Amino acid sequence: MPIDPTQPYDNANIFAKILRGEIPCNRVYEDEWALAFEDINPQAEIHTLVIPKGAYVSWDDFSARANAEEIAGFVRAVGMVARDKGLVEPGYRLLANTGVHGGQEVPHLHVHLFGGQPLGPMILRR
Ligand code: 5GP
Repeated sequence: MPIDPTQPYDNANIFAKILRGEIPCNRVYEDEWALAFEDINPQAEIHTLVIPKGAYVSWDDFSARANAEEIAGFVRAVGMVARDKGLVEPGYRLLANTGVHGGQEVPHLHVHLFGGQPLGPMILRR
């Protein structure tokens, strides 16, 4: 179920538990600002999630409240993971689902990093 994007941060969400080490993840990168791990239900050959260390519900919340260091650290981490995975050539896709229309299900900001194959059209029109 998509989340309500206006809700306060829920410390019990699954990615908060991963950040606290309460449930395992297949970690691919971690620094002061971000954690990256493989998606449990990959939608492409490579499907990695990158999340900020701070408690932010969504891209909207993060872009409004995070400080410049957090934003820079997170954006650099996303780029680093893509480079480490050798995705710059031939390319990759980033996605941050936000709110109901975006279909966001986990209420901790995450950027999906897709690659390893041609990714097709950006949006499937119904
Ligand atoms: P959203 O729809 O919120 O943008 O994406 C949530 C993503 O989190 C989905 O791709 C889903 O497969 C992934 N996911 C949900 N629970 C877990 C989990 O416990 N571990 C990992 N690694 N990924 C998860």
